[in-house]
Amino acid sequence: MNSSKTDILIVGGGMVGLSIAHQLLERDVAQSICVLDKEPQLGLHSSGRNSGVLHAGLYYKPGSTKARVCVAGAKRLRAWVEEHGLIINPCGKVIVPQRIDLDAQLDLLAERGQANGAEVEFLDEQQLRELIPEARTANGRALWSPNTAVVKSIDVILTLQKELRQRGVQFVHGTKKWKANAGLKKLKFHDGIQISYGHLFNCAGLQADRVAHQFGIGQQYNLLPFKGLYWQLKANCPIQPRTNLYPVPDLSVPFLGVHFTPSAGTNPLVSIGPTATPAWGRENYSGLQALEPGMALANLSLLTSQYLSNRGGFRRYVHEQAFLALPPLLLRAAQQLIPSLQAKHLEPSQKVGIRSQLFNHRTQHLEDDFICLPGPSSTHVLNAISPAFTASFALADLILERSGFLKSDI
Ligand SMILES: Cc1cc2nc3c(=O)[nH]c(=O)nc-3n(C[C@H](O)[C@H](O)[C@H](O)COP(=O)(O)OP(=O)(O)OC[C@H]3O[C@@H](n4cnc5c(N)ncnc54)[C@H](O)[C@@H]3O)c2cc1C
Repeated sequence: MNSSKTDILIVGGGMVGLSIAHQLLERDVAQSICVLDKEPQLGLHSSGRNSGVLHAGLYYKPGSTKARVCVAGAKRLRAWVEEHGLIINPCGKVIVPQRIDLDAQLDLLAERGQANGAEVEFLDEQQLRELIPEARTANGRALWSPNTAVVKSIDVILTLQKELRQRGVQFVHGTKKWKANAGLKKLKFHDGIQISYGHLFNCAGLQADRVAHQFGIGQQYNLLPFKGLYWQLKANCPIQPRTNLYPVPDLSVPFLGVHFTPSAGTNPLVSIGPTATPAWGRENYSGLQALEPGMALANLSLLTSQYLSNRGGFRRYVHEQAFLALPPLLLRAAQQLIPSLQAKHLEPSQKVGIRSQLFNHRTQHLEDDFICLPGPSSTHVLNAISPAFTASFALADLILERSGFLKSDI
Protein backbone atom coordinates (compact mmCIF):
# COMPACT_ATOMS: atom_id res chain seq x y z
CA MET A 1 0.00 0.00 0.00
CA ASN A 2 1.44 3.36 -1.03
CA SER A 3 -0.68 5.56 1.15
CA SER A 4 -2.81 5.42 4.27
CA LYS A 5 -5.12 7.78 6.12
CA THR A 6 -5.59 8.52 9.79
CA ASP A 7 -7.65 11.03 11.77
CA ILE A 8 -4.80 11.70 14.17
CA LEU A 9 -1.12 11.30 13.43
CA ILE A 10 1.20 11.54 16.43
CA VAL A 11 4.87 12.01 15.54
CA GLY A 12 6.93 10.60 18.43
CA GLY A 13 6.06 7.65 20.66
CA GLY A 14 7.60 8.98 23.86
CA MET A 15 5.53 9.57 26.98
CA VAL A 16 4.02 12.78 25.60
CA GLY A 17 2.88 11.24 22.30
CA LEU A 18 1.56 8.07 23.95
CA SER A 19 -0.31 10.10 26.58
CA ILE A 20 -2.03 12.12 23.87
CA ALA A 21 -3.12 8.86 22.21
CA HIS A 22 -4.29 7.56 25.61
CA GLN A 23 -6.32 10.67 26.39
CA LEU A 24 -7.86 10.75 22.88
CA LEU A 25 -9.06 7.19 23.49
CA GLU A 26 -10.31 8.02 26.99
CA ARG A 27 -12.35 10.92 25.59
CA ASP A 28 -13.42 8.95 22.50
CA VAL A 29 -12.71 11.85 20.16
CA ALA A 30 -10.89 10.19 17.24
CA GLN A 31 -11.81 7.39 14.83
CA SER A 32 -8.24 6.43 14.00
CA ILE A 33 -4.92 7.19 15.68
CA CYS A 34 -1.48 6.42 14.31
CA VAL A 35 1.80 6.89 16.21
CA LEU A 36 4.87 7.31 14.04
CA ASP A 37 8.28 6.81 15.63
CA LYS A 38 11.60 6.91 13.80
CA GLU A 39 13.12 4.19 15.99
CA PRO A 40 12.51 0.43 15.70
CA GLN A 41 11.28 0.38 19.31
CA LEU A 42 10.00 2.92 21.83
CA GLY A 43 11.87 4.27 24.84
CA LEU A 44 15.23 4.89 23.16
CA HIS A 45 15.18 8.60 24.06
CA SER A 46 14.17 10.72 27.10
CA SER A 47 11.12 8.70 28.14
CA GLY A 48 13.14 5.50 28.47
CA ARG A 49 16.29 7.11 29.84
CA ASN A 50 15.09 9.36 32.65
CA SER A 51 15.33 9.06 36.45
CA GLY A 52 11.77 7.72 36.67
CA VAL A 53 10.86 10.18 39.41
CA LEU A 54 7.17 11.08 39.66
CA HIS A 55 7.67 14.65 40.78
CA ALA A 56 5.30 16.09 43.36
CA GLY A 57 5.18 19.65 41.92
CA LEU A 58 7.44 21.66 44.24
CA TYR A 59 9.65 23.54 41.84
CA TYR A 60 7.39 25.22 39.36
CA LYS A 61 6.29 28.85 39.33
CA PRO A 62 2.58 28.99 40.16
CA GLY A 63 0.70 29.82 36.97
CA SER A 64 3.20 28.05 34.69
CA THR A 65 2.06 25.13 32.59
CA LYS A 66 4.40 22.85 34.57
CA ALA A 67 2.72 23.94 37.81
CA ARG A 68 -0.71 23.44 36.29
CA VAL A 69 -0.15 19.84 35.20
CA CYS A 70 2.48 18.30 37.46
CA VAL A 71 0.46 17.46 40.58
CA ALA A 72 -2.59 16.20 38.67
CA GLY A 73 -0.43 14.32 36.17
CA ALA A 74 1.63 12.61 38.89
CA LYS A 75 -1.55 11.37 40.63
CA ARG A 76 -2.98 10.02 37.40
CA LEU A 77 0.23 8.33 36.27
CA ARG A 78 0.73 6.79 39.70
CA ALA A 79 -2.82 5.40 39.65
CA TRP A 80 -2.24 4.03 36.13
CA VAL A 81 1.09 2.42 37.17
CA GLU A 82 -0.58 0.77 40.19
CA GLU A 83 -3.57 -0.38 38.11
CA HIS A 84 -1.20 -2.06 35.67
CA GLY A 85 0.79 -3.76 38.42
CA LEU A 86 4.06 -2.03 37.49
CA ILE A 87 6.83 -1.49 40.01
CA ILE A 88 6.69 1.72 42.01
CA ASN A 89 8.85 2.91 44.89
CA PRO A 90 6.73 5.28 47.02
CA CYS A 91 9.84 6.53 48.77
CA GLY A 92 9.17 10.30 48.96
CA LYS A 93 11.84 12.94 48.61
CA VAL A 94 13.79 15.24 50.85
CA ILE A 95 15.35 18.52 49.70
CA VAL A 96 18.29 19.89 51.67
CA PRO A 97 20.01 23.26 51.33
CA GLN A 98 23.67 22.64 50.62
CA ARG A 99 24.62 26.19 51.67
CA ILE A 100 23.29 28.49 54.36
CA ASP A 101 22.44 31.21 51.80
CA LEU A 102 19.86 28.83 50.27
CA ASP A 103 17.64 29.06 53.35
CA ALA A 104 15.13 31.47 51.76
CA GLN A 105 15.07 29.34 48.62
CA LEU A 106 13.85 26.39 50.70
CA ASP A 107 10.93 28.52 51.91
CA LEU A 108 10.23 29.50 48.30
CA LEU A 109 10.07 25.82 47.28
CA ALA A 110 7.66 25.09 50.14
CA GLU A 111 5.47 28.05 49.08
CA ARG A 112 5.51 26.97 45.45
CA GLY A 113 4.67 23.39 46.42
CA GLN A 114 1.71 24.48 48.52
CA ALA A 115 0.47 26.87 45.82
CA ASN A 116 0.67 24.03 43.28
CA GLY A 117 -1.33 21.66 45.49
CA ALA A 118 1.58 19.46 46.58
CA GLU A 119 1.96 18.11 50.09
CA VAL A 120 5.14 19.44 51.78
CA GLU A 121 6.47 19.48 55.30
CA PHE A 122 9.57 20.97 56.98
CA LEU A 123 11.88 18.60 58.82
CA ASP A 124 14.46 19.45 61.45
CA GLU A 125 17.94 17.93 61.48
CA GLN A 126 16.87 15.04 63.72
CA GLN A 127 13.94 14.12 61.45
CA LEU A 128 16.22 14.32 58.41
CA ARG A 129 18.66 11.88 60.07
CA GLU A 130 15.82 9.46 60.73
CA LEU A 131 15.20 9.38 56.98
CA ILE A 132 18.83 9.40 55.79
CA PRO A 133 21.33 9.17 58.67
CA GLU A 134 24.27 10.43 56.57
CA ALA A 135 22.49 13.44 55.01
CA ARG A 136 23.52 16.98 55.86
CA THR A 137 21.55 20.20 55.85
CA ALA A 138 23.40 23.52 55.93
CA ASN A 139 20.67 25.37 57.82
CA GLY A 140 19.24 22.68 60.11
CA ARG A 141 16.09 22.33 57.98
CA ALA A 142 14.94 20.14 55.10
CA LEU A 143 11.80 19.90 53.00
CA TRP A 144 9.92 16.60 52.84
CA SER A 145 7.70 15.61 49.94
CA PRO A 146 5.87 12.38 50.88
CA ASN A 147 4.20 11.96 47.48
CA THR A 148 7.29 11.75 45.30
CA ALA A 149 7.71 8.22 43.92
CA VAL A 150 9.98 6.38 41.51
CA VAL A 151 8.94 4.12 38.64
CA LYS A 152 10.78 2.23 35.93
CA SER A 153 10.15 4.51 32.99
CA ILE A 154 10.89 2.00 30.23
CA ASP A 155 8.27 -0.38 31.71
CA VAL A 156 5.73 2.45 31.72
CA ILE A 157 6.40 3.26 28.05
CA LEU A 158 6.26 -0.32 26.81
CA THR A 159 3.16 -1.20 28.84
CA LEU A 160 1.38 1.93 27.66
CA GLN A 161 2.27 1.09 24.05
CA LYS A 162 0.88 -2.43 24.51
CA GLU A 163 -2.37 -1.09 25.95
CA LEU A 164 -2.75 1.46 23.15
CA ARG A 165 -2.16 -1.23 20.51
CA GLN A 166 -4.84 -3.40 22.10
CA ARG A 167 -7.20 -0.43 21.97
CA GLY A 168 -6.66 0.03 18.23
CA VAL A 169 -3.83 2.56 17.95
CA GLN A 170 -1.59 1.83 14.97
CA PHE A 171 2.19 2.10 15.38
CA VAL A 172 4.57 2.78 12.50
CA HIS A 173 8.21 2.29 13.50
CA GLY A 174 11.65 2.84 12.10
CA THR A 175 10.82 5.38 9.41
CA LYS A 176 13.50 8.02 9.90
CA LYS A 177 13.18 10.15 6.79
CA TRP A 178 9.99 11.92 5.88
CA LYS A 179 8.83 15.37 4.75
CA ALA A 180 5.65 17.13 5.74
CA ASN A 181 3.30 18.74 3.26
CA ALA A 182 1.35 20.88 5.71
CA GLY A 183 -1.05 22.22 3.04
CA LEU A 184 -2.05 18.74 1.84
CA LYS A 185 -1.93 17.31 5.40
CA LYS A 186 0.43 14.52 4.34
CA LEU A 187 3.76 13.06 5.34
CA LYS A 188 5.79 11.61 2.53
CA PHE A 189 8.49 9.01 3.25
CA HIS A 190 11.68 8.62 1.24
CA ASP A 191 10.37 5.37 -0.31
CA GLY A 192 7.30 7.17 -1.71
CA ILE A 193 4.78 5.96 0.88
CA GLN A 194 2.46 8.67 2.25
CA ILE A 195 0.28 9.12 5.31
CA SER A 196 -2.59 11.63 5.20
CA TYR A 197 -3.93 12.96 8.47
CA GLY A 198 -6.71 15.12 9.86
CA HIS A 199 -4.55 16.56 12.64
CA LEU A 200 -0.89 16.03 13.49
CA PHE A 201 0.65 16.21 16.96
CA ASN A 202 4.38 16.85 16.95
CA CYS A 203 5.77 15.12 20.06
CA ALA A 204 9.22 14.43 18.65
CA GLY A 205 11.16 15.31 21.81
CA LEU A 206 14.77 16.03 20.87
CA GLN A 207 13.72 16.61 17.24
CA ALA A 208 10.49 18.53 17.94
CA ASP A 209 11.94 21.92 16.99
CA ARG A 210 13.08 20.56 13.60
CA VAL A 211 9.67 19.02 12.95
CA ALA A 212 7.94 22.30 13.94
CA HIS A 213 10.21 24.26 11.59
CA GLN A 214 8.93 22.08 8.70
CA PHE A 215 5.48 23.55 9.45
CA GLY A 216 6.84 27.11 9.69
CA ILE A 217 6.31 27.03 13.46
CA GLY A 218 8.59 28.01 16.36
CA GLN A 219 11.41 29.45 14.26
CA GLN A 220 12.72 31.36 17.29
CA TYR A 221 13.50 28.09 19.10
CA ASN A 222 16.42 25.72 18.67
CA LEU A 223 17.42 22.74 20.73
CA LEU A 224 20.33 23.26 23.11
CA PRO A 225 20.86 19.69 24.29
CA PHE A 226 22.15 19.01 27.81
CA LYS A 227 23.41 15.55 28.66
CA GLY A 228 22.52 13.82 31.91
CA LEU A 229 25.13 11.29 33.03
CA TYR A 230 24.64 9.17 36.12
CA TRP A 231 26.84 7.40 38.63
CA GLN A 232 25.55 4.90 41.16
CA LEU A 233 26.33 3.71 44.68
CA LYS A 234 28.09 0.35 44.76
CA ALA A 235 26.02 -2.46 46.23
CA ASN A 236 28.50 -2.76 49.14
CA CYS A 237 28.48 0.98 49.93
CA PRO A 238 27.41 1.41 53.57
CA ILE A 239 25.39 4.51 52.64
CA GLN A 240 22.16 3.60 50.85
CA PRO A 241 19.52 6.38 50.96
CA ARG A 242 16.05 4.88 50.81
CA THR A 243 14.40 8.12 49.77
CA ASN A 244 15.22 10.67 47.07
CA LEU A 245 17.74 13.23 48.27
CA TYR A 246 17.88 16.50 46.30
CA PRO A 247 19.77 19.79 46.74
CA VAL A 248 18.03 23.16 46.62
CA PRO A 249 18.29 23.89 42.90
CA ASP A 250 19.42 27.03 41.11
CA LEU A 251 15.96 28.15 39.97
CA SER A 252 17.36 30.35 37.19
CA VAL A 253 18.16 27.27 35.07
CA PRO A 254 15.81 24.34 34.42
CA PHE A 255 18.02 21.66 36.07
CA LEU A 256 17.46 20.20 39.52
CA GLY A 257 21.09 19.59 40.51
CA VAL A 258 22.81 16.26 41.15
CA HIS A 259 20.65 14.10 43.39
CA PHE A 260 20.35 10.60 44.86
CA THR A 261 17.50 8.46 43.52
CA PRO A 262 16.72 4.92 44.69
CA SER A 263 15.32 2.89 41.80
CA ALA A 264 11.95 1.17 41.78
CA GLY A 265 12.23 -2.56 42.58
CA THR A 266 12.93 -4.90 45.47
CA ASN A 267 16.64 -4.12 45.78
CA PRO A 268 16.80 -0.43 44.93
CA LEU A 269 19.97 0.75 43.25
CA VAL A 270 20.78 4.36 44.13
CA SER A 271 21.77 6.54 41.20
CA ILE A 272 23.54 9.86 41.50
CA GLY A 273 22.89 12.44 38.83
CA PRO A 274 21.92 13.40 36.26
CA THR A 275 24.53 15.96 35.32
CA ALA A 276 23.54 18.79 32.96
CA THR A 277 26.50 19.18 30.64
CA PRO A 278 26.27 20.50 27.07
CA ALA A 279 25.85 17.63 24.58
CA TRP A 280 27.55 17.64 21.19
CA GLY A 281 24.59 16.22 19.35
CA ARG A 282 20.89 15.75 19.98
CA GLU A 283 21.33 12.00 20.36
CA ASN A 284 25.04 11.93 21.26
CA TYR A 285 24.62 9.53 24.18
CA SER A 286 28.20 8.27 24.10
CA GLY A 287 31.53 8.85 22.34
CA LEU A 288 31.15 9.96 18.76
CA GLN A 289 27.62 8.53 18.39
CA ALA A 290 25.32 10.94 16.48
CA LEU A 291 27.83 13.74 16.85
CA GLU A 292 26.69 16.98 15.16
CA PRO A 293 29.85 19.12 14.79
CA GLY A 294 28.04 22.10 13.19
CA MET A 295 25.42 22.22 15.93
CA ALA A 296 28.06 21.66 18.60
CA LEU A 297 30.12 24.62 17.38
CA ALA A 298 27.07 26.90 17.13
CA ASN A 299 25.98 25.88 20.63
CA LEU A 300 29.47 26.38 22.04
CA SER A 301 29.49 29.94 20.75
CA LEU A 302 25.96 30.48 22.15
CA LEU A 303 27.00 29.13 25.56
CA THR A 304 30.09 31.33 25.57
CA SER A 305 28.02 34.42 24.80
CA GLN A 306 25.52 33.47 27.56
CA TYR A 307 28.44 33.07 29.94
CA LEU A 308 30.00 36.42 29.02
CA SER A 309 26.72 38.33 29.25
CA ASN A 310 25.68 36.31 32.35
CA ARG A 311 22.05 36.42 31.16
CA GLY A 312 19.71 34.84 33.70
CA GLY A 313 22.65 34.14 36.01
CA PHE A 314 24.11 31.72 33.45
CA ARG A 315 27.63 32.01 34.89
CA ARG A 316 26.49 30.31 38.08
CA TYR A 317 25.21 27.33 36.05
CA VAL A 318 28.60 27.04 34.31
CA HIS A 319 30.54 27.22 37.58
CA GLU A 320 28.30 24.85 39.50
CA GLN A 321 26.95 22.37 36.93
CA ALA A 322 28.55 22.47 33.47
CA PHE A 323 31.56 20.32 34.40
CA LEU A 324 29.94 17.77 36.68
CA ALA A 325 30.68 15.05 34.14
CA LEU A 326 34.18 15.12 35.70
CA PRO A 327 34.06 12.51 38.49
CA PRO A 328 35.86 14.59 41.22
CA LEU A 329 33.41 17.46 40.68
CA LEU A 330 30.41 15.15 40.71
CA LEU A 331 31.68 13.61 43.95
CA ARG A 332 32.08 17.07 45.44
CA ALA A 333 28.50 17.99 44.49
CA ALA A 334 27.22 14.72 45.99
CA GLN A 335 29.26 15.31 49.18
CA GLN A 336 27.38 18.57 49.72
CA LEU A 337 24.39 16.34 50.48
CA ILE A 338 26.23 13.38 52.05
CA PRO A 339 29.68 14.51 53.33
CA SER A 340 30.88 11.00 54.24
CA LEU A 341 30.55 9.79 50.65
CA GLN A 342 33.88 8.71 49.12
CA ALA A 343 35.09 8.01 45.58
CA LYS A 344 35.36 4.29 46.41
CA HIS A 345 31.59 4.17 47.02
CA LEU A 346 30.72 5.17 43.45
CA GLU A 347 30.75 3.47 40.07
CA PRO A 348 29.68 4.78 36.66
CA SER A 349 26.14 3.93 35.59
CA GLN A 350 25.08 2.86 32.10
CA LYS A 351 22.24 5.36 32.27
CA VAL A 352 22.46 8.52 30.16
CA GLY A 353 19.81 10.86 28.80
CA ILE A 354 19.66 14.12 26.87
CA ARG A 355 17.23 16.90 27.71
CA SER A 356 15.14 18.40 24.92
CA GLN A 357 15.95 21.90 26.21
CA LEU A 358 15.12 24.81 23.90
CA PHE A 359 16.89 28.12 23.56
CA ASN A 360 14.80 31.13 22.53
CA HIS A 361 16.82 33.30 20.13
CA ARG A 362 14.41 36.25 20.55
CA THR A 363 14.63 36.46 24.35
CA GLN A 364 18.14 34.93 24.50
CA HIS A 365 17.03 32.63 27.33
CA LEU A 366 16.70 28.94 28.00
CA GLU A 367 12.98 28.15 28.01
CA ASP A 368 11.76 26.92 31.37
CA ASP A 369 8.17 25.90 30.65
CA PHE A 370 6.45 23.48 28.27
CA ILE A 371 5.54 25.09 24.95
CA CYS A 372 2.48 24.09 22.91
CA LEU A 373 2.15 25.90 19.56
CA PRO A 374 -0.67 25.68 17.03
CA GLY A 375 0.26 25.09 13.39
CA PRO A 376 -1.64 24.28 10.19
CA SER A 377 -3.83 21.26 11.15
CA SER A 378 -1.18 20.49 13.73
CA THR A 379 -0.02 21.06 17.31
CA HIS A 380 3.64 21.27 18.27
CA VAL A 381 4.77 20.26 21.75
CA LEU A 382 8.18 21.79 22.39
CA ASN A 383 10.52 21.92 25.37
CA ALA A 384 8.96 18.79 26.89
CA ILE A 385 11.62 18.70 29.59
CA SER A 386 11.18 17.44 33.15
CA PRO A 387 8.55 16.90 34.56
CA ALA A 388 6.83 16.07 31.23
CA PHE A 389 7.11 12.34 31.99
CA THR A 390 5.40 12.77 35.38
CA ALA A 391 2.81 15.21 34.09
CA SER A 392 2.08 13.48 30.79
CA PHE A 393 -1.59 12.49 31.24
CA ALA A 394 -2.60 15.94 32.51
CA LEU A 395 -0.33 17.65 29.98
CA ALA A 396 -2.00 15.63 27.21
CA ASP A 397 -5.42 16.92 28.28
CA LEU A 398 -4.13 20.48 28.24
CA ILE A 399 -2.63 19.99 24.76
CA LEU A 400 -5.90 18.49 23.50
CA GLU A 401 -7.85 21.37 25.01
CA ARG A 402 -5.56 23.93 23.35
CA SER A 403 -5.89 22.08 20.04
CA GLY A 404 -9.70 22.30 20.25
CA PHE A 405 -10.27 18.58 20.87
CA LEU A 406 -11.80 18.81 24.33
CA LYS A 407 -12.74 20.94 27.26
CA SER A 408 -10.14 20.30 29.92
CA ASP A 409 -11.20 19.47 33.44
CA ILE A 410 -7.84 20.17 35.05
C1 LIG B 1 18.46 12.65 32.18
C2 LIG B 1 17.01 12.94 32.28
C3 LIG B 1 16.32 12.68 33.48
C4 LIG B 1 14.98 12.99 33.59
N1 LIG B 1 14.30 12.66 34.73
C5 LIG B 1 12.97 12.85 34.79
C6 LIG B 1 12.22 12.43 35.92
O1 LIG B 1 12.76 11.84 36.84
N2 LIG B 1 10.88 12.69 35.96
C7 LIG B 1 10.24 13.34 34.93
O2 LIG B 1 9.04 13.57 35.02
N3 LIG B 1 10.92 13.72 33.83
C8 LIG B 1 12.24 13.47 33.72
N4 LIG B 1 12.93 13.82 32.61
C9 LIG B 1 12.19 14.43 31.51
C10 LIG B 1 11.38 13.40 30.73
O3 LIG B 1 12.15 12.26 30.45
C11 LIG B 1 10.87 14.03 29.44
O4 LIG B 1 10.21 15.22 29.78
C12 LIG B 1 9.88 13.14 28.69
O5 LIG B 1 10.35 11.84 28.61
C13 LIG B 1 9.63 13.73 27.33
O6 LIG B 1 8.88 12.82 26.57
P1 LIG B 1 8.69 13.05 25.02
O7 LIG B 1 7.62 12.12 24.59
O8 LIG B 1 8.49 14.50 24.75
O9 LIG B 1 10.11 12.73 24.36
P2 LIG B 1 10.87 11.36 24.00
O10 LIG B 1 10.73 10.37 25.06
O11 LIG B 1 12.23 11.77 23.60
O12 LIG B 1 10.10 10.83 22.74
C14 LIG B 1 10.18 11.43 21.48
C15 LIG B 1 10.05 10.35 20.44
O13 LIG B 1 10.00 10.97 19.17
C16 LIG B 1 10.66 10.16 18.24
N5 LIG B 1 11.04 11.00 17.10
C17 LIG B 1 11.94 12.02 17.10
N6 LIG B 1 12.01 12.56 15.87
C18 LIG B 1 11.15 11.89 15.08
C19 LIG B 1 10.78 11.98 13.71
N7 LIG B 1 11.32 12.90 12.91
N8 LIG B 1 9.87 11.11 13.23
C20 LIG B 1 9.31 10.18 14.03
N9 LIG B 1 9.63 10.04 15.34
C21 LIG B 1 10.52 10.89 15.86
C22 LIG B 1 11.84 9.59 19.03
O14 LIG B 1 12.32 8.40 18.46
C23 LIG B 1 11.22 9.40 20.41
O15 LIG B 1 10.78 8.07 20.60
C24 LIG B 1 14.28 13.55 32.47
C25 LIG B 1 14.96 13.78 31.27
C26 LIG B 1 16.31 13.46 31.17
C27 LIG B 1 17.00 13.69 29.85
